[in-house]
Amino acid sequence: MPGYEWFGDEERREIQDVLDTGALGRYGFDNIRKDNKAKKFEEELCRQLNVEYAHLCSSGTAALSTALAACGVGAGDEVIIPPFTFVATFESILFQGAIPIFAEIDDTLCLNPKAIDAVLTPRTKAVVPVHMCGAMSQIDKLKEYCARKGLILIEDACQSLGGMFQGKALGTFGEMGCFSFDSVKTVTCGEGGAIITNSRERYILADKYADHGHDHTNPDRGKEDHDILGINYRISELNAAVGLAQLRKLSNMIARQREIHQVLQSAFKNIPEITFRRIPDPNGDTCTFLSFFLPSEERAIDIVAKFAEVGLDSWMYWYPNNWHYFKQWNHLKTLSVPAPIATMAFKYCPDYSKIELPVSDDYISRTISLAIRLTWSEEEINNRVQKIKTAFLK
Ligand SMILES: *Cc1c(COP(=O)(O)O)cnc(C)c1O
Repeated sequence: MPGYEWFGDEERREIQDVLDTGALGRYGFDNIRKDNKAKKFEEELCRQLNVEYAHLCSSGTAALSTALAACGVGAGDEVIIPPFTFVATFESILFQGAIPIFAEIDDTLCLNPKAIDAVLTPRTKAVVPVHMCGAMSQIDKLKEYCARKGLILIEDACQSLGGMFQGKALGTFGEMGCFSFDSVKTVTCGEGGAIITNSRERYILADKYADHGHDHTNPDRGKEDHDILGINYRISELNAAVGLAQLRKLSNMIARQREIHQVLQSAFKNIPEITFRRIPDPNGDTCTFLSFFLPSEERAIDIVAKFAEVGLDSWMYWYPNNWHYFKQWNHLKTLSVPAPIATMAFKYCPDYSKIELPVSDDYISRTISLAIRLTWSEEEINNRVQKIKTAFLK
């Protein structure tokens, strides 16, 4: 999965370009810069994803916050999200003063379009589905639903850069799509993120918002007006340089992941108790993970123990994990937030300690994901296949 595994001279050359001049910022420095890595990264992202506009941010979390702001989602607005995601999805919503509302997932491990009705209220403003673990949600159905109900669709595609649904890039279905390039994502810059959109208006708002509201049509850095209130979610040229080199490797990374995915999947051929995560368009899966269901939570816990016994690593059992599943997000349940805006929003939030998501609990408690690494040799992969088979026979 992570781009740090394929790291080397390409990244070094791009960073050296920046170090040669000392133009570390993406704005200004026009008299000394020989390149604008952030701009180049954005152009390359637009080209690869076939989208009009991209804007780099300092993180995926910053990208989500920027997208919410640029779509006018803020104080008091309810935003529907899945309970299986990374904490950043709800953080970005709360810190805009908005209210995260959970709706159930299904066997795609992503938001179930049919589960939204149950939590819809007159205050619902947006839906933020998360394309989890490298593959897509039912984005066509979610788009159709949002259009019908007049809701804003923002895609959290932080884990699924390069994923497609029916030939169209994830992140391009909603008003805006968000990506993360943090240190463990498929393409990494160290820290970084991006928003993409086909709306010129939203792009300009995002571009201003992430740089204190500065109007970038004025080329004279330091003399720009502040059209809107913004904040600093800028990326630095050093980070953008790394990401640019990484992004050029993306299609090769995905191709390699797909090869490994296919071999690993063969290990499960004669194991009838396994069912795989439903992928709405398998051709568009980036194959960063291979996710499957056991028949029961007990059996999942048992298999996790057997994986440890046979020495199999690089897998995730998400249910007890406090980064990715709602059940362990105790800070949401105890209202322990130091920030005033989020605290204000909390007054209008449901009591998260009382929320029950039995369908999501059922799926996640039975899910194990194998995380695929780019650096595995053929021998290591075959070794893994043997270990998986042994674990299931034990
Ligand atoms: C990584 C991630 C984010 C946040 O990205 P950062 O760059 O780490 O801030 C948001 N959502 C999901 C689903 C993620 O996996």
